[in-house]
Amino acid sequence: MKYQKQIKECERLSAPYCVTKGEKFCLKDYDTNDTGEVKNQEHGEKIIANRAGLLTNLQEKLYAQDRWALLLVIQAMDAAGKDGVIKHVMSGVNPQGCDVHSFKTPSTEELNHDYLWRAHSRVPERGMIGIFNRSYYEEVLVVRVHPKILEAQKLPNPLITKHIWEQRYEDINAFEHYLTHNGIVICKFFLHVSKKEQKKRFLERLEDSKKNWKFSMADVKERGYWKDYQEAYEELIQNTATKHAPWYVIPADNKWYTQLIVASAIISTLEELDLSFPDVDKSKKKELESVRKSLVRE
Ligand code: ATP
Ligand code: MG
Repeated sequence: MKYQKQIKECERLSAPYCVTKGEKFCLKDYDTNDTGEVKNQEHGEKIIANRAGLLTNLQEKLYAQDRWALLLVIQAMDAAGKDGVIKHVMSGVNPQGCDVHSFKTPSTEELNHDYLWRAHSRVPERGMIGIFNRSYYEEVLVVRVHPKILEAQKLPNPLITKHIWEQRYEDINAFEHYLTHNGIVICKFFLHVSKKEQKKRFLERLEDSKKNWKFSMADVKERGYWKDYQEAYEELIQNTATKHAPWYVIPADNKWYTQLIVASAIISTLEELDLSFPDVDKSKKKELESVRKSLVRE
């Protein structure tokens, strides 16, 4: 097989960041600046060049087979590189087989429903890759850091208790179980950036006129809650990292490395599905052959 070496490499590169059992997870064990076995950006680019076409190939089979779907959940602090990761992943796939959805502050209509409603309606169809730019995990992140948001969710009062976050982890786990039982494969990414690197990127957005549009006052405000967010991330990974829906904690201080590892994890996950183009049965083959012959004769 043409890509055997590259596939092994994808597994090897992404495995150190994959969390499948949350109980003992500690965020401080994960270095935001790590670049693993990859020496520098140039080396990273070489790895990517060597695997050109691999993801396209896997996606084509996913699409043609029309059985599995892949859901990629991307979560991060602001300026950690979500957009860059999505752009990178999308550059390797056929846009027809891929769907990106960004989850913003819920609308009035969305608030009239349970919180998974809007996420469930965006789950990718069979054969598709779906990317969630933020997700239902905001319900145990921003909502947890700012409990005032919970009040706007119109939940009946007796249901807002100190157990609400535990209950949400439980519900999210059940939801993800349900999806995997239906052939939707889930991969979750936390782009783990340092506070120092975020400051650097915010300053770039302020100082470079081409990046001004990306700067948001709200992002700086959220930076003030850094510690609360880190704790919320750690706890949610402890509670929702499972074998069927793992969290990848991706070093995000070097954008090129973040993109390399996310792509590696996606390739490894698709590869494990053992995808193939659908078989054509004997009578269909006969039919194709006769059409071929008549076309040649034309
Ligand atoms: P970018 O800034 O790169 O465009 P973004 O994901 O930060 O991407 P924004 O429009 O800036 O997009 O922010 C979306 C906001 O919506 C975030 O602050 C996020 O916390 C918030 N949000 C998402 N889901 C929820 C939710 N369920 N409840 C409350 N707020 C949410
Ligand atoms: Mg933003």
